[in-house]
Amino acid sequence: MLVLKNARLIDGTGKAPSGDATIVVEVNKINAITTQNTADFPADAEIVNCAGLTVLPGLIDCHDHMANHRYDLAHRWGIDEPESTRHLRTAAVLRQTLEGGYTMIREAGGLDAGFKRAIEEGLTTGPRLILSISIISPIGGIGDRMAPSGDCCCLPGDPLLPNGVAETPGDVRPVVRKMVRAGADVIKCATTGGASSRPGHGPRDSAFNLDEMQALVDESHALGRRVMCHALGGRGLDIAIEAGVDSIEHGCYLDQNPRHLERMAERGIVFVPTLLVYEYHRKSPQPHVRERAQDLYEHHILAIRKALELGVKVVAGTDAGGHGHPANAGELHCLVEAGMTPMQAIQAGTQWAAECCGKEAELGTVEKGKLADLVVVRGDPLADIAMLRDAKNIALVIKDGAIAANRMAAPR
Ligand SMILES: [Zn+2]
Repeated sequence: MLVLKNARLIDGTGKAPSGDATIVVEVNKINAITTQNTADFPADAEIVNCAGLTVLPGLIDCHDHMANHRYDLAHRWGIDEPESTRHLRTAAVLRQTLEGGYTMIREAGGLDAGFKRAIEEGLTTGPRLILSISIISPIGGIGDRMAPSGDCCCLPGDPLLPNGVAETPGDVRPVVRKMVRAGADVIKCATTGGASSRPGHGPRDSAFNLDEMQALVDESHALGRRVMCHALGGRGLDIAIEAGVDSIEHGCYLDQNPRHLERMAERGIVFVPTLLVYEYHRKSPQPHVRERAQDLYEHHILAIRKALELGVKVVAGTDAGGHGHPANAGELHCLVEAGMTPMQAIQAGTQWAAECCGKEAELGTVEKGKLADLVVVRGDPLADIAMLRDAKNIALVIKDGAIAANRMAAPR
């Protein structure tokens, strides 16, 4: 038994914090939450005094690329370092992400299922992983690896990361099945270019037609997988919403068609804006990337504000990877700057994020019966959400009832 005593509790439901909470963890579940300090605990219970500290649900990032570490072509194609070095680099990022208070990551492409297995076997540590394996797109889409020279990537593909290019409309369903065979828990696809994609395939240039996307969504749902769709604007964004994807990733120009957010609210489609990556792209040395990121910025902020007004769930995702792996909680800070309250930003990274992942029955809030993924922090994230970015403020991380990182003794 693990007992967190005298804590200030922000439970992830949006409810005002409660003081002097005691949270009792048995095996891997939250067994009780009480404000009475009188209970007796067994002699072998591990009691953690959380006086002056705040307990939150384990944080969740709904869009991350754990195995990507830079945007340049040599890195994207995997020729800049030995594969073993890259795998160990990825393992270090997984460990640091967990130690930063992130107990679950929804992977947006590039991480193979071996990492999940290694974490489950205890070979290495990391968050719970919801895998997408490779991004599915048509020829010319963001998953199609072509250099500015016109050369296509000629390296043998990694069998654990099947090629996500659907070459013909008839390839869409088999490609979905290949991702599931390789371990995908969610299907990641793209119906537009992005800020960092090649010149000529920008945020409002589309990929896939409606028939293809309907087939993709139908096949994914038939196999019990949700669809997370990279879509920034233009016709590709229309198609993604029309086809009924489960979440729109980036969604930068959702402000441009008033029907888009209304339909997302009606259908329960989640919005994962990934603001943090565009901070990086706005300063990109590549002019076409910088211009795209600057152009979309005001639309993106407006889209978030309208989404909140209409009741569309806005959840936290960093799109980390190409831009390195800054603290994932930087996204929560961006969401507050975009107009969320700090409490909403916490929900975007806990309760609402768990809903986006389909894990709300077991994770995302501190409630009796849920899995014990918890983070104990120094300071008040409601007063200063940015404090969550600083690892020294993350005092204790509990995943599945076990202590995964402990900085309780560190000087304040
Ligand atoms: Zn991404």
